[in-house]
Amino acid sequence: MAQITEAEIRKIVENIIKGNVSSASSYTSTEYNGRKLIGIYSDMNEAIDAAEKGYKAVRSMTVEQREKIITEIRRLTIEEAHIMAEIGVAETKMGKVEHKRLKHILVAEKTPGTEDIVSEAKTGDNGLTLTEMAPFGVVGAITPSTNPSETVICNSIGMIAAGNGVVFNPHPGAICTSNYAVDLVNRASSAAGGPEILVCSMDKPTMDSASVMQSHPKIKLLVCTGGPGVVRAVLSSGKKAIGAGAGNPPVIVDDTADIRKAGKDIIDGCTFDNNLPCIAEKEVFAFANIADQLISEMQKNGAYLINADQADKLAKIVLEEKTNKAGKTVKSVSRDCVGRDADVLLAKIGVNVDKSIRCIIAETDFMHDFVQHELMMPILPIVRVANIDEAIDLACKAEHGNRHTAHMHSKNIEHLSAFAKAVETTIFVKNAPSYAGIGFGGEGHTTFTIAGPTGEGITSARSFTRKRRCVMADNFRII
Ligand code: NAD
Repeated sequence: MAQITEAEIRKIVENIIKGNVSSASSYTSTEYNGRKLIGIYSDMNEAIDAAEKGYKAVRSMTVEQREKIITEIRRLTIEEAHIMAEIGVAETKMGKVEHKRLKHILVAEKTPGTEDIVSEAKTGDNGLTLTEMAPFGVVGAITPSTNPSETVICNSIGMIAAGNGVVFNPHPGAICTSNYAVDLVNRASSAAGGPEILVCSMDKPTMDSASVMQSHPKIKLLVCTGGPGVVRAVLSSGKKAIGAGAGNPPVIVDDTADIRKAGKDIIDGCTFDNNLPCIAEKEVFAFANIADQLISEMQKNGAYLINADQADKLAKIVLEEKTNKAGKTVKSVSRDCVGRDADVLLAKIGVNVDKSIRCIIAETDFMHDFVQHELMMPILPIVRVANIDEAIDLACKAEHGNRHTAHMHSKNIEHLSAFAKAVETTIFVKNAPSYAGIGFGGEGHTTFTIAGPTGEGITSARSFTRKRRCVMADNFRII
């Protein structure tokens, strides 16, 4: 058995003292417990060359071989879900270990593989035309800090199933977690008879390494999962790009809804991984005649109601004022507050509660910062509305035209249809927690790259393909 060295013990102890890990493991962007992570480079050009070799290896495989690698990725992801969940929380200080573990299991079980790639045949008087979903080549993927390893694994499964190679430029704030997942994919590849390096990443990703990736001639497709800045940058690269950007999902609750269930579902969805998923409930528009009952049901499910003064005080802490390039003052979320526990956020305004409190709720007006900004933390504003027209109007405005996700609790099919049509989101969830929209307790496959701006929607292997046609004139028809 390998002996642990004194230096390694010292590193583990230092990490625990610094609060860097939640268990006795040590990690960096290139190592885990002293084991070197596979596929991690210091130079983006070298990473792209290695990913190209991975692409060539995938190209020469049968679909069955690709599927074997994907099966192994799924198995390892389930086996090591708790490790990635722990590193994710320890490194980013965001989210909840148990919820991150569940997100990895979801990715392993419900991300489509090679079965998603289907060919079409068209026959007629002039013979047969075949359309096949072909790989792009080497994909350059940018991933977020909010679902770091989940996105790397989900993207890898889909991109490999489609026959591509992949190079990642992960979020610098979640680089150790992301690179653990890159290594996991490479270990799965080796174990299933594939190349040792199938997907690649950087040890220190930067904006510069992202720009090298965006302009490199070997990168044929860019897939970007992140906030508005990075999606804009990738879409202006001049290459084919898939952009999965920000959301600010509104929830409408009307007076036909099962209010008890709505209160529980909304708090369950809003607090999942401390509100980090981009699909999670971010603001509620409640009919005035059921608002008190809804708030009471939320309180029964771990919500803590703060008053208007407390809400204003908290808003000044969770949102920071900055001057943008145009010299204008803008507010952006404080990185010290994103994904933090509700009791930690409440303590910042002098309210001490225990861990049974999982969400902060506040009655606000429509223009309140809690409604207008995508906070990504367990704070949920509730705005009273008089009727369905006002609810839809305000909810659409709060969504800011992201066309990402919206939710509604109602038994009135006309209300449900009217909001779904008006809001035009990629995901619309009725009478369930938000995560039902990505296949967790709802039908359909999962993804952690929801491409609203570029239209691929709930991405899967087929989103990472290009269609190619082969024509056989006058023959190959059998009737
Ligand atoms: P972020 O936007 O801060 O960062 C995403 C990645 O982009 C990081 O790797 C970052 O370093 C890089 N980056 C930022 N600006 C860049 C630029 N101009 N050029 C190149 N790279 C750049 O994202 P985050 O805070 O980790 O994630 C949260 C945001 O992402 C939220 O807005 C959330 O809604 C969104 N998100 C969307 C989806 C989706 O599927 N639509 C999924 C997860 C997160």
